Amino acid sequence: MTKELVFSTSKKRQLINITNEAQKAVGESGVEEGVCLVFAPHATAAILLNEDEAGFKEDVETLLQNWIPEGNWQHNQIDDNATAHLASAFIGQSKTIPIVDGKLKLGTWQELFLLELDGPRQNRKIVVTFLAA
Ligand code: ZN
Repeated sequence: MTKELVFSTSKKRQLINITNEAQKAVGESGVEEGVCLVFAPHATAAILLNEDEAGFKEDVETLLQNWIPEGNWQHNQIDDNATAHLASAFIGQSKTIPIVDGKLKLGTWQELFLLELDGPRQNRKIVVTFLAA
């Protein structure tokens, strides 16, 4: 079973907590035990798991600026968003999370995020696939 979630983003780079929407989709799936694949079908977005707090969001921004600085990247000759493509490729576009008792089995400080890297965008899709064990 697969569900599609859609989010709009309002900034160039933005962390959006999608945990509640993903939990709701798990509940609607009826899967009590299994795995949930959360996948962003985009080349300039990524999926992360971590703590939802302001310092983490700011640190992600600082990391991205230092790790992949704006520069003379080849892809910029196409549409000037090479840093977004590179970050998406190396951070990754999916996470797999266990489902236990009909819920995502996340750690105490784990939340699920869509990381926008080339916003704002109206239609950022997240494909959520459930596999019962
Ligand atoms: Zn591009």
